[in-house]
Amino acid sequence: MITFYPGPSKVYPQVAQYAQEAVQQGIVSLNHRSVGFMDVVKETIRLLHEKLAIPADYHVALVSSATECWEIVAQSLTATTSLHPYGGAFGKKWMEYAHRIKPMIEPGLADTLCVVQNETSNGTQVRMDTLAGFRRDFTGLIAVDAVSSMAGLAFDWTLADVWFASVQKCFGLPAGLAVLVYSPDALKRAEIIGENDHYNSLLFIHENFAKFQTPYTPNGLGIYLLMRVLEQVPPITEVDARIRQQAADWYAFIEQELTDSPWKLLIQDPALRSDTVIAVAGSEADIKAVKAAAQQAGITLGNGYGDWKTTTFRIANFPAIDEEEREQLKTFLRTYRA
Ligand SMILES: *Cc1c(COP(=O)(O)O)cnc(C)c1O
Repeated sequence: MITFYPGPSKVYPQVAQYAQEAVQQGIVSLNHRSVGFMDVVKETIRLLHEKLAIPADYHVALVSSATECWEIVAQSLTATTSLHPYGGAFGKKWMEYAHRIKPMIEPGLADTLCVVQNETSNGTQVRMDTLAGFRRDFTGLIAVDAVSSMAGLAFDWTLADVWFASVQKCFGLPAGLAVLVYSPDALKRAEIIGENDHYNSLLFIHENFAKFQTPYTPNGLGIYLLMRVLEQVPPITEVDARIRQQAADWYAFIEQELTDSPWKLLIQDPALRSDTVIAVAGSEADIKAVKAAAQQAGITLGNGYGDWKTTTFRIANFPAIDEEEREQLKTFLRTYRA
């Protein structure tokens, strides 16, 4: 069975070996305040800086999920309220969570701008030049949900103060861990707000990670697997070039090779199209049929999500998916007849 589900998604095959090592070497049984465990955390953070080219002065912490990061941004980094220019289901959900913590008031008073870089639900993305425009026009903090693009695409990290991603998408790992990156300005904002009421208050997380520790018993297996996968992956500029090329191939394939098929791209404007999640639209009956036929052929397509649940399927273009698997899906789609 091969999977193009955009999260949880295919994990790197080496993860099986790494998980076995983590158990055999007793890493999963280490006390999380022990030197051995702190070394794993330290090395993981070093590798994140190195492999993802995160600026040296940006801090990195590990938490449980992207959803938790949405709440951390609202509770620890937003003094007034946040703005959410969104175009899909995840952006909307983030806004709803955030406004439960910091309700919407005068939009002009918002001090935090929340952007979903890659909207997994409909296969759109906010490119770096758009983010640069936000940076120019907005004086507060900018927080970016990069759940389905971090570790797949290269970013200009300086265009935002907070970036986060859970690892079950482009990192090619099992769910239950998220990477939270924050700038010196974000930390300064957290200090000014001084919010320290929660186990996951950013100040408390920061204080713990300064010692390569965590506020609570962390997902030690997940952290170890992240470390091992980061050791194995190439620098982000290389990954980025491959992912963009593959995305261009996918879009050309669907537009040019599948002309007499029931499929069309959900996103018509090429400038808005995601490089890591390709959304393909069709009638409800066609979508249902192709997903079932693909399943029969040993291929899991991504379901649609939110408003596009029944009228799209999604193809993850994540780094862990290999050439042979992409070819297999292309062959299936070329020969599939409704
Ligand atoms: C998957 C996803 C999330 C949610 O991640 P969790 O790990 O379930 O919290 C948030 N935002 C985007 C854009 C996603 O793709």
